[in-house]
Amino acid sequence: MPKRVGHWIGGAQADEPSVRRAEIFNPATGEVSGHVDLASAQEVDAAVATAAAAFPAWRDASLVKRAQVLFRFRELMYAHRDELAALISSEHGKVHSDALGEVARGLEVVEFACGIPHLLKGGFSENVSTNVDSFSIRQPLGVVAGITPFNFPAMVPMWMYPVAIACGNTFVLKPSERDPSASLLMARLWKEAGLPDGVFNVVQGDKEAVDRLLEHPDVRAVSFVGSTPIARYVYETGTRNGKRVQALGGAKNHMLVLPDADLDLVADAAVNAGFGSAGERCMAISVVLAVDPVGDELVDKVVQRVGELTIGPGDDPESQMGPLVTRVHRDKVASYLDTAVAEGAKLVVDGRETQVKGGTTAAGTPGFWLGPTVIDQVRPGSVVHRDEIFGPVLSIVRVSSYEEGLKIINDVEYGNGTAIFTNDGGAARRFQNEVEVGMVGINVPIPVPMAFYSFGGWKASLFGDTHVHGTEGVHFYTRGKVVTSRWLDPSHGGVNLGFPTNK
Ligand code: NAD
Repeated sequence: MPKRVGHWIGGAQADEPSVRRAEIFNPATGEVSGHVDLASAQEVDAAVATAAAAFPAWRDASLVKRAQVLFRFRELMYAHRDELAALISSEHGKVHSDALGEVARGLEVVEFACGIPHLLKGGFSENVSTNVDSFSIRQPLGVVAGITPFNFPAMVPMWMYPVAIACGNTFVLKPSERDPSASLLMARLWKEAGLPDGVFNVVQGDKEAVDRLLEHPDVRAVSFVGSTPIARYVYETGTRNGKRVQALGGAKNHMLVLPDADLDLVADAAVNAGFGSAGERCMAISVVLAVDPVGDELVDKVVQRVGELTIGPGDDPESQMGPLVTRVHRDKVASYLDTAVAEGAKLVVDGRETQVKGGTTAAGTPGFWLGPTVIDQVRPGSVVHRDEIFGPVLSIVRVSSYEEGLKIINDVEYGNGTAIFTNDGGAARRFQNEVEVGMVGINVPIPVPMAFYSFGGWKASLFGDTHVHGTEGVHFYTRGKVVTSRWLDPSHGGVNLGFPTNK
């Protein structure tokens, strides 16, 4: 029986299937493995109403109680990490070890949120005026929503809901319809951890569900992660409807290689960061800027390493890279190979010809396959350089100086991640200061901040004011209140219509 992935509302999966549904694929074979329900506006309304009804009691649950539930959830997620990784791999296509890695990085946010009693401590000032005290508190918003992309079906939701729920909000998750099953396992584990029904809900769906969340008057805040056009749309629509919105968008991450860098380490890093998860990571390196004269030698080293990679199904322990998520996405990514040649770049490794384990070439094997592709002599500003390709395609751009490389990075529309590779501390320090990108690596190709910092890019990679998780996440999911208090005694009496001044 093909599986049916439905909504999770009020602590249980909804029995009644939605009127509309979409296919779920196994990317390694191209076969349909099940269907996901696509919520109507009424189904979204039901989830929001359930979350709104659960809010008053959860908001009043003590900090210690909330932390205890989070600790139990952390243990359950850890115990089920293999099951979760296998689900992710079966719908997304990434290899099992990579799926386990995303679960581990998501769990770090749960661990961060376990410290919520400390994170929500406010400030207190005694005697701001004689016998008057002042203190600040942060309170939850109410029902908040998370709308997430296909590429991290566990980790990206986990950037959001542990912090939101720890802060006392109730949550409605709208996962990607392309790999929706992880959301239901996480929902089941929340219930097992003792989270009251209705605090965490899932609506499966597409634009119809997103649009209803963006206009629903009881949704107070929306966290979004996905492509830039949709991030901009979500930010503009959500804020127009009076909601707090943080919307993280797409990326085009450059790695600047100075001539003094160790080229073997650079080649390792470029291959790991370019082709891990088939390049379907918002922090993947998609462009290497090689400062003269290292270009030729670096390309040789990258090509040699690419030739040794094993491409195969995600559930094969020998596979290092799996297929892409859908046929449509695979074909779109592959179309850039022809564009590159038409633009005068040099296709040094053609991923359509890559051997797939258990199959033939990537182009000839059933499933959504494209092997690691290396394109040299890419011109800055060309389509292949500018567009977010979001696949296993690594472009090499030759530059003559640090300054030329920096300008190329700063001229790009996106500003999610970047890295410099050098042994020159002064150059690295200059780069961290001058580059217009939100997350910077120094000899670290994928500089994803730990859970206790906040994740987010600049420019078209983020719309809104706060990054996700860390203290900015706590800030996003709460609003501040300042109380000024005086315990009256008879000496405070007397009428005075003047403007109060401190005494
Ligand atoms: P996407 O924008 O297609 O989808 C993201 C979410 O928006 C999904 O839940 C989807 O159902 C919904 N959606 C899609 N079209 C919509 C529409 N027209 N109206 C309303 N909602 C819509 O993104 P994706 O393909 O799932 O994910 C890949 C993208 O996400 C890449 O661009 C990648 O860079 C980006 N991403 C960014 C980050 C980051 O931190 N900046 C992290 C992960 C992924």
